[in-house]
Order: sequence, then C-alpha cells, then structure tokens
Amino acid sequence: MPLDLVHLVVGPLETNAYLLADRATGTAVVVDPGAEGERIAAAAQARGWTIRHVWLTHAHFDHIGGLAALADALPAWPLVAMHPDDLWLWRLEGGAPLFGFRLDPGPEPSVFLQHGQRLRVGDTEFEVRHAPGHTPGHVMFYAPTENLLLAGDVIFREGIGRTDLPQGDYETLLRSIRDQVLTLPDETRVLPGHGPATTVGHERRYNPFVADL
Ligand SMILES: [Zn+2]
Ligand SMILES: [Zn+2]
Repeated sequence: MPLDLVHLVVGPLETNAYLLADRATGTAVVVDPGAEGERIAAAAQARGWTIRHVWLTHAHFDHIGGLAALADALPAWPLVAMHPDDLWLWRLEGGAPLFGFRLDPGPEPSVFLQHGQRLRVGDTEFEVRHAPGHTPGHVMFYAPTENLLLAGDVIFREGIGRTDLPQGDYETLLRSIRDQVLTLPDETRVLPGHGPATTVGHERRYNPFVADL
C-alpha cells in the first residue's frame, strides 16, 4: 500500500483527525484538524512528512478548530479544501459561538470541492462524495484502491451524525447515507469523524438508523 495513514484523536469532542501520506514522497494531507494543530504538525514532522493540503469533511468547529495552530506550525500555510456549501458555517467559526466560545479559524478554504472530484495523495486517488444532511456542504473522501472511506460526521459505528444543528436535515442525511455510503462494497473500511472505525457491511447489518434504507 503506497499510502500511510495516521489517526489522532483530538480535542474535547474526541474528533478523529487523519494524516494521509504518500510513502514515496512524504507529501501529506490532513483531514479534519479539529484541535491540537501543533500535535498534528509534530506527528507529520516526526515521520519526515510535509503537509501541503488540508481536506475538511465539513466546517463544524470540532473539525476545523486546530487549523490555525496547524498552519502556524508549518513552514508554509497549507491549501485548505472544502465544499462551498459549508463556507457560511466556516465564516461563523464553525458554530463555536453557539456553544459559547470563539475560534480563530485560520487560513480560509481556497479549494472548493465538488461531488465526483478526484483528489490525490501520491498515487492514491480519492473521490469526493457530497453527503449533505449533517451540514449542507459535508463531503466524504473515498479511495477505491484502498477500500477506504473517510466519512466525517455522516455515519458512525452503529450511529449517524446529528441533524439538530443549523442547516441540518434528517431526511437529507439518510438519503446521503443510502446513496453515498451503502452503495459502496461491504468490505469498505469506514473511518468516521468520531469513535471507532467500522465497515460498510457492518453498518448495513447493524446500524439501526439505516435498517430501512
Ligand atoms: Zn459535525
Ligand atoms: Zn464532529
């Protein structure tokens, strides 16, 4: 496997941040630097990796909260990629003021992702899957050759993302799970935004929210 993956649990909401690196070149991507940006930068540095890009599944504060510190810890600010439908939320500091605190959001996203777009980490291709419902601009990153789905807060092990925050919508989320998650092979590893990893097959059988989809 040409792709190296490091998993870090960051911040009080125990967000799963992921470092993806191309083994040949050491070029790395951070997915969802939710907090503890310095620790994420140090984890890459310890492996000799260079972080050039940040991919955001969505703009909630617990997924972007470490971006400013991460960017400041790097020799050059990374390019930040996100779906444009979450830009309003990013500009509202990921909703942090709703929870009574402020957030320095760091470098503004400048790469706008669209459904079906292909991204690369070295030779490994990831497909952008737009999966609204938890937020309007939520995306997942799917690498077919790795049987890997970075799912953010769309689906968790035997759970789903909450839809009671601004612009959340339950029916939309269920449709996203049906069309963008359950269409993938059973053996696909699902790395969610919180909690343990799972597989599409496990969720197809045991996730109570998707039983009727
Ligand atoms: Zn979220
Ligand atoms: Zn989250």
